[in-house]
Amino acid sequence: MIITLKASATKKEKDAITKKIEQLGYKPHISEGADVTIIGMIGERAERYREVFEAMDAVDHISEIEKPYKLASREFKKENTVINVGGVKIGTSEVVVMAGPCAVENKESIINIATLVKKSGAKILRGGAFKPRSSPYSFQGLGEEGLKYLAQAREKTGLLVVTEAMAQDHVKLVAKYADIIQIGARNVQNYDLLKEAGKSKKPVLLKRGMSTTIKEWLLSAEYIMSNGNYDVILCERGIRTFENATRNTLDLNAVPVIKKLSHLPIIVDPSHGTGIREYIATMAKASIAAGADGLMIEVHPKPEDALSDGPQSLLPDQFNKLMKELKPIALAVGRTL
Ligand code: PEP
Ligand code: MN
Repeated sequence: MIITLKASATKKEKDAITKKIEQLGYKPHISEGADVTIIGMIGERAERYREVFEAMDAVDHISEIEKPYKLASREFKKENTVINVGGVKIGTSEVVVMAGPCAVENKESIINIATLVKKSGAKILRGGAFKPRSSPYSFQGLGEEGLKYLAQAREKTGLLVVTEAMAQDHVKLVAKYADIIQIGARNVQNYDLLKEAGKSKKPVLLKRGMSTTIKEWLLSAEYIMSNGNYDVILCERGIRTFENATRNTLDLNAVPVIKKLSHLPIIVDPSHGTGIREYIATMAKASIAAGADGLMIEVHPKPEDALSDGPQSLLPDQFNKLMKELKPIALAVGRTL
């Protein structure tokens, strides 16, 4: 149930409403828009208290959200959500690029790649310290040591850091070192992990699962938001289809669909979306043209030696060229980069 307040509602009146919601055993979710304040009272059978709130002077009207996801829905919040990560804003007209290796491999290489991608215009460094690998025999990541190297790369370059938390007990640890907590495709429906990320103060980058529908994906975002963390960035990274000419099928439909259904920012990862270096630049451009708020791209100076995802990593020069080519595309759709 959504309680829309009158423009004249005072702070005291707002506080009285949130207090009442809490007394009734629900959690108030407040969205302060430019003109109106909306308070979400979300939970099982909240609508039975409709009249309690309708009787309040400060309340303009009450409505229901039809969609199963509530806080993530456009109905709850009309304006696009802008997530401010240490001064870098995601969800404005400026497209934000996150780049780096698939995995943090050692201190020198992460600092080297960070320096290169920063020079090309990336704002956020990516790199996994905890790696969800299909095979238990593949490199599993450096763990906390990798997080420390990422933090050192941030110090050296000023780039922000996004890295994956694979398990519930990684969340606090990752939040200690990183600026954005990534939840990977394989964990998009790990509800305990989502709840834990929902308790964190750090923004969450939520990848789409390889077989999650957009509705399920938004419900996963809802798990994070309903636990108190509204800073969710969605990331389309390809889904599994019958097609096997590429690693995944990059579902760019998701971009306009998410923009319609949700106020959350959405970025695209064409590296995992295609799995093949040759196609990444084309699909990165298509993502921007489709309205994505940003990109996540894997870059490695020696893909043949990469400990994971070498075949889908751009060389630094290719990344640099792509960043230049993206600018006019961003401009053509009313964005900057
Ligand atoms: C990654 O970003 O390195 C990764 C493992 O991606 P995904 O979860 O999309 O497979
Ligand atoms: Mn990867």
